[in-house]
Amino acid sequence: MNILQVSAEIFPLLKTGGLADIAGALPAALKAQGCDVRVVLPGFASILTDLETPTVLAQINAPWGDLVVVRYGRLGTLNVFAYVIDVPHLYHRNGTPYEDEHRQPHGDNHRRFALLGWVAAQLAHGLDLYWQPQLVHSHDWHAGLTCAYMAFLPHQGQRIANVFTVHNLSYQGIFPPSYFFDLGLPLEAFHVHGLEFHGQLSFMKAGLFYADHITTVSPTYAREIQTSVQGCGLDGLLRTRSGELSGILNAVDNTVWDPAHDPHISFHYDVHKPFDKALCKAEFQKESGLALQADALMFGIVSRLTEQKGLYLVLSVLDTILSRGGQLVVLGTGEAWLEAAFRERASMYPKAVSARIGYDEANAHRIFAATDVTLVPSRFEPCGLTQMYGLKYGSLPLVHRVGGLADTVVDSSLEDLANGTANGFVFDEFTMQSLDRAICRAFALYARRYEWRRVSECAMSQNLGWEHAAIQYKALYQRLCT
Ligand code: ADP
Repeated sequence: MNILQVSAEIFPLLKTGGLADIAGALPAALKAQGCDVRVVLPGFASILTDLETPTVLAQINAPWGDLVVVRYGRLGTLNVFAYVIDVPHLYHRNGTPYEDEHRQPHGDNHRRFALLGWVAAQLAHGLDLYWQPQLVHSHDWHAGLTCAYMAFLPHQGQRIANVFTVHNLSYQGIFPPSYFFDLGLPLEAFHVHGLEFHGQLSFMKAGLFYADHITTVSPTYAREIQTSVQGCGLDGLLRTRSGELSGILNAVDNTVWDPAHDPHISFHYDVHKPFDKALCKAEFQKESGLALQADALMFGIVSRLTEQKGLYLVLSVLDTILSRGGQLVVLGTGEAWLEAAFRERASMYPKAVSARIGYDEANAHRIFAATDVTLVPSRFEPCGLTQMYGLKYGSLPLVHRVGGLADTVVDSSLEDLANGTANGFVFDEFTMQSLDRAICRAFALYARRYEWRRVSECAMSQNLGWEHAAIQYKALYQRLCT
């Protein structure tokens, strides 16, 4: 079965968050299920550089007139065939893929990402004479116009099915209505039954409205986004589409996240021989200037520092962590006030708090290996990957019961300890008090080393690989193609 995957990011070539991890892992997982997967990506420098033996597949004009070169080749790092949209003046920029160095969205983002959907639709409709997808799978608002273009661009032959996956409904790709005329879509698309959203353009809504099927990244989030609390104004549409909406839980790429073979960590361990995790902790304490204490309960955060992630709650329970002899390690980047707050706590308590502001893949691995607890107190969380990395590395996740966190973490309550299913800590109310109690529960369990070990074993032996998710995606694709 031929599948075309459409995304703005792909690990390890370009990553700002979980989307890249999924886009990087899914092609190989689907290949293992017998699918022939190709990807289409914007021509960011890191992606073009990785493209081996590129050929020019097509030179075509974008709806607003720009000359677009579509290159085809193999991404060497991922061993995946790719179509790359090479328009240097659109994609060769400083900053992140979406924002400039002053954290402002690029003024022409509507063109930069409309083009992704537009080229994907051209490929669906036969741009490559030698390979045609049977299904197009697009991800998040950046690729949201794919389904709209597939609905409206003229094509011959059989209609190609499509799936749109929501990784985070709160990032919607909203643009002023005047930009509509750049997109090359018919006027009827600018409608409440289309991509119009409160008088604006919404790329996310285009995906949700025109896709044959919508998935999101956990079953619980699939339910939550149909409510007014988490629906970001799109819950009405999502409720009307509930028959074509499902949640498929994300997974972990075991070739990247495995404490037994991780090249980023100095000491390797697994569930059967967990002892060298203590060496990872000691090394990290030494390198980051923390007190060299084997029995200090060490909490880790690897996260975007945004309001969604609930990290201001951690600031308010820091006293509880410190007064009980714990340590806190933070790696993140995001809102300036949160960066400053964690930096300030690190300078106030250098032996107990370490804060690195920035993005550092290797350091993230070292933190999961070093810490005892991974904190993910998100206000909402579509799936969340860091709690799963915590599970794999024996850094027990402590999470808010929401979205994918609720689907992956089982609290160390007495009954779940007794039946051997506890793998972390879960709090229900998104309040400082509720988080504080969960932190205290972590300290209480840590004092009972035998039980802590049993919970760690349960966490580390969890099967979090991609096989199960890939089987579900393939079954969905097959259903949509028949
Ligand atoms: P989101 O996609 O909302 O950012 P996820 O938990 O789904 O959250 O995925 C986050 C991914 O980004 C994980 O792979 C995590 O390790 C990584 N990550 C987040 N912040 C950093 C950072 N500062 N340095 C390195 N990796 C990070």
